[in-house]
Amino acid sequence: MALEEYKRKRQFDQTPEPPPSLPKKAGHRFVVQEHRATRLHFDFRLELDGVLKSWAVPKGPSLDPSDKRLSMMVEDHPVSYFDFEGSIPEGNYGAGTVMVWDVGTWQPLSTTMVDGKYVPASDEEARSMIAKGDLKFRLSGQRLKGDFALIHMKARRPGSKGNEWLLIKKKDEHVVDGFAAEQYDTSILTKRTMDDIGGDDHSKQWTSSKPAGRGRVKAAWLADAVAKFDKQRAQQRKNEEATASGEDKPPKKTKSTAKTKITSAKSTKEKKTAKSSLKRTA
Ligand code: MN
Repeated sequence: MALEEYKRKRQFDQTPEPPPSLPKKAGHRFVVQEHRATRLHFDFRLELDGVLKSWAVPKGPSLDPSDKRLSMMVEDHPVSYFDFEGSIPEGNYGAGTVMVWDVGTWQPLSTTMVDGKYVPASDEEARSMIAKGDLKFRLSGQRLKGDFALIHMKARRPGSKGNEWLLIKKKDEHVVDGFAAEQYDTSILTKRTMDDIGGDDHSKQWTSSKPAGRGRVKAAWLADAVAKFDKQRAQQRKNEEATASGEDKPPKKTKSTAKTKITSAKSTKEKKTAKSSLKRTA
């Protein structure tokens, strides 16, 4: 069954991540999520056959063709993971902060070039390219654009799981020499930084002083994701106000959704900081 491994690794009453489900409609979106877990990495995901094919990229994707970025293939994720941004609590698989770094659409590119150019391929070809370990594709994102290849490496290292691929930018008009993923440190969906997402007191500052500027987001499917976020944030704000009116009490879990509960789960040290900043502003 699809998404079995995704399901097996997670407890959905303890993580804000979406439960496994398969959509009715096929799409070709892609997402890159920055994930501050045990080690900082970027998760690169392509929507195909109702799931997100996923790779963990330690150094992040690059627009520089001389960068060959190690990418570990991981379990398929549900497409609802596409706009997931938040904190996975301690003790859970992948615990840490997740920020949506880039979103857009992708298309597979045929292995047969026409007039020296890559041309779009079918989903069937995409499946076969993944199976062969040489997937060529084109991205239309906000930060990532142009042609890429994901190439499966032969397992050479002893102890290798055989899941090592290389993500490589092809030469085209979208090349950026010396590209560094870290130069973009905000969410493409909400404009929040990792710190904004990682803690309540940070996101509180964000709500008052840094409203999301979303002028560049135009696609309809993206508008849906953004609307969902606005709804979540409105609820979160309500909860924060409720917590703040409790004055000296540390921020506590309120009666709301699992997502909001999770956001207020923090380390003791962070709790103290949140408490003292509440006092200061009161
Ligand atoms: Mn990850």
